[in-house]
Amino acid sequence: MSYHLTKEVTIKPTQGQQIIRNCSKCGGKSTYINTENFRVNANGNAIDIWLIYQCEKCKTTYNLSIHERIRPKSLPLEEYEKYLSNNQELAWHVSYDGAVLKRNHVEIDMEKECYSMEVIESSEANIVEKNNDSDTNIIGIDNDTDTNRIEQKYQQIIQIQNPYHIRFRMDRILADLLGRSRTEIKRWFDDGKIVSQPDCKVNKACMQGNIKVHIL
Ligand SMILES: [Zn+2]
Repeated sequence: MSYHLTKEVTIKPTQGQQIIRNCSKCGGKSTYINTENFRVNANGNAIDIWLIYQCEKCKTTYNLSIHERIRPKSLPLEEYEKYLSNNQELAWHVSYDGAVLKRNHVEIDMEKECYSMEVIESSEANIVEKNNDSDTNIIGIDNDTDTNRIEQKYQQIIQIQNPYHIRFRMDRILADLLGRSRTEIKRWFDDGKIVSQPDCKVNKACMQGNIKVHIL
């Protein structure tokens, strides 16, 4: 089997993720902005930590619970200090933490894309394993064939790194990367022309940290 590794993509947030919740003051659903500020309550043997959000219209605040009634010793000092200093990176990480969001029953605005993609293109054949198994026979070449022919015949890989576990849609990202329409990308998935590992639904939210997309 031979792969032509074409793209390494890293998905990075451009801001802390916003949430949607009911605002009693505005009288309906409203977008809440991640203020990148934490609130820490240390009370004897228990610590509570929240990330503070703010209604974008009326500035009403909402505290997203991160830790509730935990023992001070159970929290690494380094992490505790980041909460105290309102560390931006940690505020972003928390806002994309699926477990925290789920525990708080928080809704996310899927239409708002708060990420950017860093793309590294590579024209090298990074993984080339020549052997006598059926993979080689499928493409009808001898073992000593040149790499170019394999590359032309065979597939690309797009390696997607998503360290923040940002929710994204595969059809949008691939349409963007490959310069195709989302309809076309969906058809390619349906036809098996594109497969992903792990298996992601092409037009649903996907948030895996490390995804390999194979394109025939
Ligand atoms: Zn409001």
